[in-house]
Amino acid sequence: ARALRAQAPTGPGRLRDGTPVPLLANLGSADGAAQAVALGAEGVGLFRTEFLFLHSHNAPTILEQAEQYARLLHAFPGKKVVVRALDAGSDKPLAFLNDADEENPALGLRGLRALRASEDILREQLTALAEADAATDADVWVMAPMVATVEETTYFVELAHKLGLKTAGVMVEIPSAALLADRILQHADFASIGTNDLTQYTLAADRLLGSVAGYQNPWHPAVLRLIAEVGAAGRNLGKPVGVCGEAAADPLLAVVLVGLGATSLSMSSAALSDVRAELARFSAEEARQLAEVALAADGAASARAAATNLAATFS
Ligand code: PEP
Ligand code: MG
Repeated sequence: ARALRAQAPTGPGRLRDGTPVPLLANLGSADGAAQAVALGAEGVGLFRTEFLFLHSHNAPTILEQAEQYARLLHAFPGKKVVVRALDAGSDKPLAFLNDADEENPALGLRGLRALRASEDILREQLTALAEADAATDADVWVMAPMVATVEETTYFVELAHKLGLKTAGVMVEIPSAALLADRILQHADFASIGTNDLTQYTLAADRLLGSVAGYQNPWHPAVLRLIAEVGAAGRNLGKPVGVCGEAAADPLLAVVLVGLGATSLSMSSAALSDVRAELARFSAEEARQLAEVALAADGAASARAAATNLAATFS
């Protein structure tokens, strides 16, 4: 029986036909780095830097930050590490960045908006990251959270390049950014789709509110359609499009995301092996067909059911 059991694949993420789909880890500090490497993470797809400073009253210095970032980068020599600029506000307020009393903080001065309002903090973070990049062998990419417009994209990417970071992109987690992905990706080196917020804003349902939790489902075809826009833009422009929201940790949805055009997937380390195994079951053409039936559904449950049923016919 042991010999008959299918071997769980190890090594880099890939589809059955060999198409590579790098599998990356979501991390909030260097503490999880060793575990991520042990579980086969090929790099980091989302380093949530704001987690480092949730309890800081004052803005961290450049030196403090550079040390923290270097700690994580040292664990990934030669590997891609996507560092997100501070995503402060709403569910993750930082004392030194968010002081407004807002009635709807999820729609307020958060993410890149808050950083722009305190540009010194953004400049210091990018400077610290460039220093950590220079001091380590990791392949550092930087991205801005909560980008809504083309103008915000050019602002962030130009500033990051100017401060010495080679690869600068944006998160796509606001519907306006997904809808204009073809223009945004002309200015950004890459995009990374945050399906948690993209779902929250597409369905207009607070991701933290239990009474509307039923809406927070990235299988919803409205969300999938926005992801498809970003995937198509990435393909047309030859730019990488990752997914770093929780959706990437759902094994069958991960295959659908690849079918929609995602070129890498980032998730909590614990999800890596199940996603790796599921990707290995399908070809690129099958992933596209799974995406197509999910897109054609009327709702999240029927999208999942359609993909599940079609997947059963493939093997
Ligand atoms: C997301 O919104 O999907 C995301 C990855 O960012 P966070 O969950 O940190 O908001
Ligand atoms: Mg987000």
